[in-house]
Parts: sequence; C-alpha cells; structure tokens
Amino acid sequence: MARRKKIYEGKAKTLYEGPEPGTIVQYFKDDATAFNAEKKDVIEGKGVLNNLLSEYFMLGLTNIGVPNHFLKRLNMREQLVRSCEIIPLEVIVRNYAAGSMSKRLGIEEGTQLPRPIVEYCYKDDKLGDPLVTEEHIAAFGWASQQDMDDILSLALRVNDFLSGVMYGVGIRLVDFKIEVGRVFEGDYQRLVVADEISPDSCRLWDIETGQKLDKDVFRRDLGSLTDAYTEVAKRLGVMPKTSTPASKPTLIN
Ligand code: UDP
Repeated sequence: MARRKKIYEGKAKTLYEGPEPGTIVQYFKDDATAFNAEKKDVIEGKGVLNNLLSEYFMLGLTNIGVPNHFLKRLNMREQLVRSCEIIPLEVIVRNYAAGSMSKRLGIEEGTQLPRPIVEYCYKDDKLGDPLVTEEHIAAFGWASQQDMDDILSLALRVNDFLSGVMYGVGIRLVDFKIEVGRVFEGDYQRLVVADEISPDSCRLWDIETGQKLDKDVFRRDLGSLTDAYTEVAKRLGVMPKTSTPASKPTLIN
C-alpha cells in the first residue's frame, strides 16, 4: 500500500492527504501538551477519545445546520475532513471566567459572565497565541469584516449547541476554542468550523461537584486525563459504559 503523504504534524494531530482531492485525514495522537508545549506527555487513549468526541460534536453541528469540515470517521483514531484554509485565529467563547481571562482581569474562576464573551487570539506558537482585537485582524488582513460577522455567528451557534448538550449530561461548558476554515465552492467561499471540538479545547466542569473534566486535569496535575475524557464520552453515550478506550487503531469498515 502506498504511504500516505503527511501534510502537517501538530501537537495533538497529524494531517495526511485524503483519498480524494479536497479531503484530509486527521489522525488523533495521544500526545498532550500545555503551556505552549512546555509541559508534554503521552496519555494513552486520549487520541481515540478525542476522535470519537469530535465526531459526535461535529455531527451534532451538521444536524442543526452549522457548517463544519467533518465528513466521516474512518477508524478509532482517524477522521476524514474537508480540506480548508485555516484562518489564523483561535476563536474563544467564554460563559464563565477561567484560565487566562481570570488572570488577565482578576475575576475569580467560575464567575458567570453577563453574556458569552468572544475573544480572538492570533495563532502563532512562537508568540504564544497572543490575544488580538478586531482592529488587528482587519489591519493585518487575517479576516474581512464579512468573515468576522460569520465567525461570530458560528462561534455563538457552537456555544449554544455545546452548552445545551453538556447541560443535558450535567456538565457546565465554561469556555472553549474553535478554529474556522475557508472552503471554496466555485467563486464562493464559505466559512466552516474546522480542527476539532474535544475536551482538549473546552473547559468542562461537573455541574454538581465542580470536578474538571477537560485538559486542565493535565495542565494542573489533577489526576487521570483519560478518566476525565472517558467520563465525558460515557455521559454522552459516545462509548459503551464499561469499555476502556483502545490504544491502537482499529478498523471499523
Ligand atoms: N484553548 C485551546 N488552545 C489554546 C488556548 C486555549 O484549546 O491554544 C482553549 C482552552 O482549553 C480553554 C479556552 O480555550 O477551553 C480558553 O483558554 P484560556 O485563554 O483561558 O487559556 P489557558 O488558560 O488554557 O492558557
């Protein structure tokens, strides 16, 4: 079998050329990084869980008409997605103060915000993904005003969807990050939710106990990351209640 062409290797995923033009295979690795890759580890099963969870969220978004890059899951670690041009922004939506916002503004973690707040960071690891304003985005041409309107609308729709889904299983969606890509259809471009939606890029707290069920477990050494992500997957019915994640890829054709 011909070796697939690797397009890009990131911290948590590797991208390969897909079987048809305009498609990409996203392979979810077990690598976990935090604090701009200063803290690193391999967490067995994390890639499998994020692949399943991201599929679940992207399919849910498709069902309510929120455009995204997901096409289909190929196996336990890989999914086929539409190739798109990623806008170099991390789009963060916050419902409760936490993390960098709490530090920056001196607001206690867990404080409910008066309304969802959307922030933009410029995607550049060397710079540590700095917070930027719409002025920077417009001046440097990273996105047009129309793009920004579409990005805001996508971000808020994802927030409503994810908050509701999580609330239904007793989890508070504190904040999350999405990435947005452009797909070209003839003369038109359309913006779609890209990358992944998983506990790696969300803050998820148990509503009753406040237990953290997201990457902060790794960032702050709060216990087993696999257990936390497995709990999210179990509550959502994404994996059988008794099984543990397979650590090796398994074909499910
Ligand atoms: N986030 C992310 N990737 C990043 C930065 C942030 O997925 O490079 C997510 C993070 O998991 C959280 C939200 O975006 O759900 C807000 O993160 P924050 O700005 O508070 O940064 P942190 O405290 O994680 O450095």
